[in-house]
Amino acid sequence: MRFLLAVLAFVLVPSWGFAQDYPDRPITVVVPFSAGGPTDTVTRLVAEAMSKDLGQQIVVENVGGAGGTLGAARVAEAEPDGYTLLLAHIGMATSATLYRQLPYEPLGSFDYLGLVTEVPMTIVARKDFEPNTLQELIDYVRANKDTVTYANAGIGAASHLCGMLFMSAIDTQLTTVPYKGTGPAMTDLLGGQVDFMCDQTTNTTKQIQAGAIKAYATTSPERLANLPDLPTASESGLDGFVVGVWHGLYAPKGTPPGAIDRLAKSLQIALKDPSVVERFAELGTAPASQADATPDALKAKLESEIERWRPVIQEAGVYAD
Ligand code: ASP
Repeated sequence: MRFLLAVLAFVLVPSWGFAQDYPDRPITVVVPFSAGGPTDTVTRLVAEAMSKDLGQQIVVENVGGAGGTLGAARVAEAEPDGYTLLLAHIGMATSATLYRQLPYEPLGSFDYLGLVTEVPMTIVARKDFEPNTLQELIDYVRANKDTVTYANAGIGAASHLCGMLFMSAIDTQLTTVPYKGTGPAMTDLLGGQVDFMCDQTTNTTKQIQAGAIKAYATTSPERLANLPDLPTASESGLDGFVVGVWHGLYAPKGTPPGAIDRLAKSLQIALKDPSVVERFAELGTAPASQADATPDALKAKLESEIERWRPVIQEAGVYAD
């Protein structure tokens, strides 16, 4: 009898710890930045569509701090059972060099589900900030470098990377004000407590369109369809200043292959969902292609991006520790 039960269990549970009826309870997706910011916005849209497909609730948990590395650490340590995931961006690659010590292995602690989207950034300022063009901004911050403040979401954030590239391009170091995400940074920009920042269109488009903040440039290679008057940084004096903030969905290392397959398939379905496509377009971005929304594509992207940014960061000489 015991033998029969063991055989039955083997048949019903093909890979250890993975049940055929997965998922049979809510899944948590950790966002390593504050609620209301761009990574949070992207995650909530995708989670809603995946939840429809999986027939289970997906709870978004914001674990901000240390440029996204606290949230990544939380997921690296989580039970690899398919019920805790991480939606993180380019910071997964830059943190690998920015932090000489991390509580996880950027390339060893996670399983991959797929790329989600690549979002352009915009260089924006409080509405009454004096400069009106990118060139004026460059001149102004050079002349006022001791008083101008730059908001970011901590070392390892995309806003940190963009600010670091900007400061090194104009050879001027500024005072940075770190937040747990650019959601709260945007609140302070709107309130006039900080001067400027660089942030994903998924957080800035509506505010730019409403005229609530000033926008100087986009970091995309071409102008954006929904902000056609906004020049690219390359067009306005920062030649080759292009940053795309790619986002990926991860699971802790050791997640059952059956769960990985189910989640990766669900991500693909979510990225084709018309409501996701439409909302992404309104926010100046597009879902990853079906070929990119795969575990192999995310793994290859993370590996190549760690290599791409390592020399840039080493040259800038900025480290978190
Ligand atoms: N945009 C932020 C960053 O600078 C993160 C966020 O709040 O989503 O990386």
